[in-house]
Amino acid sequence: MSASVAQNLIAEAATRVGRPRVSFEFFPPKTEALETQLWESIARLAPLDPSFVSVTYGAGGSTRDRTHRTVSRIVSETALKPAAHLTCVAASREEVDGVLRDYWNAGVRHIVALRGDPPGGVGAAYEPHPQGYAGAAELVQGARAIGDFEISVAVHPEKHPASPTWAHDIENFKRKLGAGATRGVSQFFFDAEVFLRFRDRLAGAGVTAPVLPGIMPISNAKGLAKMAAGCGASLPKWLTNLFDGLDDDPETRKLVSAATTAQLCAQLAAEGVEDFHFYTLNRAELTLAICRILGVRAAEAQA
Ligand code: FAD
Repeated sequence: MSASVAQNLIAEAATRVGRPRVSFEFFPPKTEALETQLWESIARLAPLDPSFVSVTYGAGGSTRDRTHRTVSRIVSETALKPAAHLTCVAASREEVDGVLRDYWNAGVRHIVALRGDPPGGVGAAYEPHPQGYAGAAELVQGARAIGDFEISVAVHPEKHPASPTWAHDIENFKRKLGAGATRGVSQFFFDAEVFLRFRDRLAGAGVTAPVLPGIMPISNAKGLAKMAAGCGASLPKWLTNLFDGLDDDPETRKLVSAATTAQLCAQLAAEGVEDFHFYTLNRAELTLAICRILGVRAAEAQA
């Protein structure tokens, strides 16, 4: 793509009538300093009026209490609509149902229902807990039985790494929708074509439910390569080249990240994508910049 075309896409995205909707993902903080960072980020991003904000659930349920505390605080202290991530790993149905009930009683009405990764790490065979939910589709069903939750589920635009075929992966998404899921939220990706081809596959399979692209503004290229390898997301060579030599230069990394992520979002917007889900990593700055480029600003500033 030529530079002038990229520039036009960004100009179009920024001025498009019917601005995109955005949602933001956070993780539950471990320390007081990270807690402060999270709440500062929430305060900066809240004026963009996100459709929802989600809070992740650590591997093997390791953040169960912290996720609950963070989500409950969002309910009680903000006007945001929180979505609590929940996995099936290392827990019986009874335990997971208990967490679901606690969320319902705390006023949480949106769950992101996930299988979770094997306790042995990504790549190890997944063994469900003997009394547990076998996967996300069963968890969706379980959540539906407990309350009238809005339910989001994970989708994998480059196919789940453990999935034998595309057909299998898409059937699995359909099972989750059939069990009562409302929408898919995608794993991150760095090439607009990856998401657009996935959208075509879903349309070809008769899936009409909304699927939000998961957008990861890169803040640390080294860490990202590890994460991407773990979840089957491919990192284009041109992108890793852009970050080469910037390990000790966070300011330049941020600028490069804003430029590349804005281009990705502008390409998606030009193809009719209207909802964007941002993996914020609890930092507001990059997400704010990219939202602004997409034409999404604080409600007051738009008026
Ligand atoms: P499922 O939909 O249950 O299935 C995963 C794959 O396994 C499917 O693609 C399917 O092909 C295959 N499969 C399913 N059922 C069967 C079966 N019966 N037999 C054979 N194969 C089968 N992880 C966390 O630990 N905490 C989080 O907070 C978290 N948040 C996430 C948010 C998003 C938006 C995304 C995309 C992922 C998130 N993950 C999280 C990672 C997720 O837990 C992993 O990707 C996990 O490996 C799969 O979860 P899933 O819900 O897609 O699983």
